Amino acid sequence: MKITKETIKSPIKPTWCPGCGNFNILRAMYAALEELALEHEDVVIVYGVGCAANEADFNRIYGLHSLHGREVPNAIGAKLANHDLKVIVVGGDGDLYGEGGNHFLFAARGNHNITMLVHNNWRYSLTTGQASPTTPQGTVTKTTPEGLIELPFNPLQIALTAHATFVAQGYAGNHKQLKEIIKKAIMHRGFSLVDIVQQCITFNKVQDSAWFKEHVAELGEHDSNDWQAAFDLASDDRKQIQSGIYYQDEAILAYHEQIDCLKAGSMVGQWQDSVDIGKVIEDYV
Ligand code: SF4
Repeated sequence: MKITKETIKSPIKPTWCPGCGNFNILRAMYAALEELALEHEDVVIVYGVGCAANEADFNRIYGLHSLHGREVPNAIGAKLANHDLKVIVVGGDGDLYGEGGNHFLFAARGNHNITMLVHNNWRYSLTTGQASPTTPQGTVTKTTPEGLIELPFNPLQIALTAHATFVAQGYAGNHKQLKEIIKKAIMHRGFSLVDIVQQCITFNKVQDSAWFKEHVAELGEHDSNDWQAAFDLASDDRKQIQSGIYYQDEAILAYHEQIDCLKAGSMVGQWQDSVDIGKVIEDYV
């Protein structure tokens, strides 16, 4: 069955705060999946823990609601078991850059063919607004009452230095562009990061809709094959958040493409042909 905006919606309505940027990101992901004309059985979404990851309840699609920060290794496992699947990771900035930060680095480094959609609102919002890895220095939150000491994590530059082959910045308020970025990320050969800035209307009163209007602009024309140019564009000195695809390199083989025994087909496919699944189920159930 083809994925459409209707078939992917579960009967559970999103419980997000009205005005949350998560709604727009979800809408863009639905539109991207529908326009790619993918079948339900071709897609798996792996979620972490947080406001964004609660999407697990709102989507009716194959997937796994995993542990905090552990969605990436689960996604890699799914991809290696059946590399014919499109595997998407959904989580927030705290989840994927904090608890899951090591997995993010190694997924990029290995060029594992998964797509990371990071809902970045600069806070741990599900736990009521503590500072996350992307929170700007000096920000006052419940855990940083005198202002955050650390400098923020720059996901784009970190992905680039970890050898990610697709690095993009999305903005929840730019549906058309975000949908196109997500489509390209899903179809990319190798690891793709889409960091998506969004409002947390409840726990981030600084980066509100007026702030986004002033601080987000689309990235201009540039050569997305040029790693150094992408790194410079992603610099902390930039005056605005520029949304678009910073870098893409499809000449590098994805991780699973370099494993000899997977050249004959997916592990699941090979296993199904050689193993009596009825017997395995009998043994284990
Ligand atoms: Fe969205 Fe923030 Fe509400 Fe979470 S707390 S649902 S991120 S607005």
